[in-house]
Amino acid sequence: MAVAIHPAVDGGVKAGVTDFAGGTLTCLCTSAPVTVTLKGNTAFNHVCGCSKCWKPKGALFSQAAVIGRDNLSVTANGTKLKIVDEKAPIQRYACSGCGVHMYGRIENRNHPFYGFDFVHTERSAAGGWTAPDFAAFVSSIIESGFPPARMGEVRARLKELRLEAYDCLSPALMDLIATHSAKQKGTLAA
Ligand SMILES: [Zn+2]
Ligand SMILES: [Zn+2]
Repeated sequence: MAVAIHPAVDGGVKAGVTDFAGGTLTCLCTSAPVTVTLKGNTAFNHVCGCSKCWKPKGALFSQAAVIGRDNLSVTANGTKLKIVDEKAPIQRYACSGCGVHMYGRIENRNHPFYGFDFVHTERSAAGGWTAPDFAAFVSSIIESGFPPARMGEVRARLKELRLEAYDCLSPALMDLIATHSAKQKGTLAA
């Protein structure tokens, strides 16, 4: 049996729909759920192995996509939302009732992804969202306790699902590292 990656892709990656109009994300609370409405489709959908993104129970990876911040609005029970880590480059708004991250927002205007919010489209019942087409931070699942000896199985399954596997840090961290080394080399003014 193939190793389970995420419920949204384990049965095969579902193709998105061009001109998809968007939809509503709902948290897991059975009473007074938080809803977030997205106008239009998402982009850059992917599965992520980092330990910061919200994962459904038992999933090895999260699934996350981006949407322009102007196309996202909290439409019900927003008072339940709490920022998970105010110091993180991405401020993840989690439901204090069920723990689902409803969206992640970047407030630093110098961040390469400023203007985009991160969302988990699996929390919408609608079909048609952009399909995930890569896997980020694959090696990071080890940090959440996955046995390193089984990474070959995970990479083979990702390949089978045509999810290109990457092990890089976030763009913000990669940029910080690159900026730091460019300043040391003198290719960028300090
Ligand atoms: Zn909730
Ligand atoms: Zn992540």
